[in-house]
Amino acid sequence: MKKLIFATHNPHKVKEIQNLISGRFKILSLNDINFHDEISEDRLTIEANALKKAYHIHRIYAMDCFADDTSLEVLALQGQPGVYSARFAELTNEVNSNENISDANIRKLLKLMQNVNNRSARFRTIIALIYGSQEYLFEGIVEGTILHKKRGLSGFGYDPVFQPSGQKLTFAEMSLEQKNSISHRAIAVNKLVEFLKSYA
Ligand code: IMP
Repeated sequence: MKKLIFATHNPHKVKEIQNLISGRFKILSLNDINFHDEISEDRLTIEANALKKAYHIHRIYAMDCFADDTSLEVLALQGQPGVYSARFAELTNEVNSNENISDANIRKLLKLMQNVNNRSARFRTIIALIYGSQEYLFEGIVEGTILHKKRGLSGFGYDPVFQPSGQKLTFAEMSLEQKNSISHRAIAVNKLVEFLKSYA
């Protein structure tokens, strides 16, 4: 079976993709190949971050490889937090002691949006694949709105304040299966899987 590296330390992401691609490719995580360093996401776009991570591993291991990066983009905030979604509150030193990063990010977001009526936002995932020395990008987008208050306890990141368009629940009120069936990451992953199947 052909092997493909997913440049992530997150075993949940690897499992999700391995399930979708079934017996055609064996997906290896960074832990599987004994790569334990962090590859910093310091580029100005999520496309550049995903490509940076994929190329970093491709250069060392000379194997086909892919990586992802995701942003939350709020229309009224000109696309913020964008590429800084993971460390939005850290950027302005707004993380209280004993507070987890996601809570601080949401607090900062809701504060910035206190008087904002148009609450349109989207999640956008990019997967960068280096395959046979060529690069390919796959994009997944979910449109939705930012609520005034958190709702739900599941998921991670901005899930409790993000309600996808056409849904009554926030991502944090959905089961993992429900979220995975419509999420930005799932859309990008499905595009990657379709591409890979055409080669398998
Ligand atoms: P990553 O590229 O998957 O690490 O995502 C970057 C940041 O975007 C995360 O640290 C979260 O703050 C946010 N994020 C990414 N995906 C999701 C999601 O599915 N729900 C909520 N927040 C997310």
